[in-house]
Amino acid sequence: MKVLVINAGSSSLKYQLLDTAKQELLAKGLCERIGLDAPRLKHEPAGKDKYEVQVAMPDHAAAISAVIEALTDADHGVVKSMDEVDAVGHRVVHGGDFYAESVLIDEDVKKAIKACYGLSPLHNPANMTGIEACEKLMPGKPMVAVFDTAFHQTMPARAFMYGLPYKYYEEDRIRRYGAHGTSHRYVSQRAADIMGRDPKNPEGLRLVTLHLGNGSSLAAVVDGKVQDTSMGLTPLEGPLMGTRCGNIDPAIVGYLMDKHNLSTKDIDRIMNKESGVLGISGVSSDFRDLEAAAKEGNERAQLALDMFAYQVRKIMGSYIFAMGGVDALVFTAGIGENDAYMRKQICAGLADLGIEIDDEKNSSLRGKEADLATEASKVRVLLIPTNEELMIAKDTEEIVKNA
Ligand code: AMP
Repeated sequence: MKVLVINAGSSSLKYQLLDTAKQELLAKGLCERIGLDAPRLKHEPAGKDKYEVQVAMPDHAAAISAVIEALTDADHGVVKSMDEVDAVGHRVVHGGDFYAESVLIDEDVKKAIKACYGLSPLHNPANMTGIEACEKLMPGKPMVAVFDTAFHQTMPARAFMYGLPYKYYEEDRIRRYGAHGTSHRYVSQRAADIMGRDPKNPEGLRLVTLHLGNGSSLAAVVDGKVQDTSMGLTPLEGPLMGTRCGNIDPAIVGYLMDKHNLSTKDIDRIMNKESGVLGISGVSSDFRDLEAAAKEGNERAQLALDMFAYQVRKIMGSYIFAMGGVDALVFTAGIGENDAYMRKQICAGLADLGIEIDDEKNSSLRGKEADLATEASKVRVLLIPTNEELMIAKDTEEIVKNA
């Protein structure tokens, strides 16, 4: 089945066309600056030259139209017509507690996505514009919503509740939802497969999945089901990240707002965009820049790296304890897949817990699936490049086939 995967943001739209039977990427690309001046489309067809063009994109429908043109173009295209594309899979950031699985999009699903606008004010409306644009331009094509929150819906209440008055859960749905769920699901299923277990039902298997990128989250996964995860009501919770502050004493918010006469918008900007390793180092949110600066003696860059490793370890350790042990750690996303220094810091000194990383494997293997643990290590340390688009395409195929 050929599935078009759409990840619509407020002014950008990423796409991939995948052949699910061959697990092959046919084309991918990005529309940038939708609704702004100088919009552009970057298109990368497999086996052909990539190209970049300026196309008028006043809205998401125009962007989807440009994507369709690129996919069917005589020179750069990969299909003759959109009739060859069987279905569309949409990444949707927030499904609230409505969806624990991906779902065929209909009017009720659209209503539920809209009901979650308040929980994800930047992403869900953008995801919806992507859905509506596809409906307009490809009427009748089956479409599936794949939610970032869905995989985390198996968390028990003791893990997803906050210690606030119960009415805020009942009336305002304040609880932990988590994020990066499609990535945690993909790597946990791959981990089970690599370890010779049934990926859909790996009974007794205990994993900590570490999605470490510009945004970072960890999940405790037992029997293939999430028991806990570090992102909360929003993606701000967890370890400090590229520009997000992660876990802080909640009283700091009111204290700073009063002291500096800050608005909610100000504090939101500070905690989401100006904090994290960028805020600590003053250098960059990118770990490559931080490691280069630390090597040259920049102490705040080193502090930011130390804090990240320490906070990730603390969360990972709490999950291992909560699960009563662990069979594998799974590293993924930009830092998890590429940053050998950070993986080493996170796993250092844990031999007593049965976690031993092989320095040589850790520093030489990159970008493909690998076990970085020593032979003697009781716990596997897996590097698994994430592939959220493939997961979305596979879900779409399964749901459309069974519809
Ligand atoms: P992501 O959000 O998953 O795309 O991850 C992006 C982040 O991965 C970047 O901001 C970098 O901090 C990090 N990253 C990517 N490549 C490397 C690398 N080779 N070494 C260290 N960090 C990297």
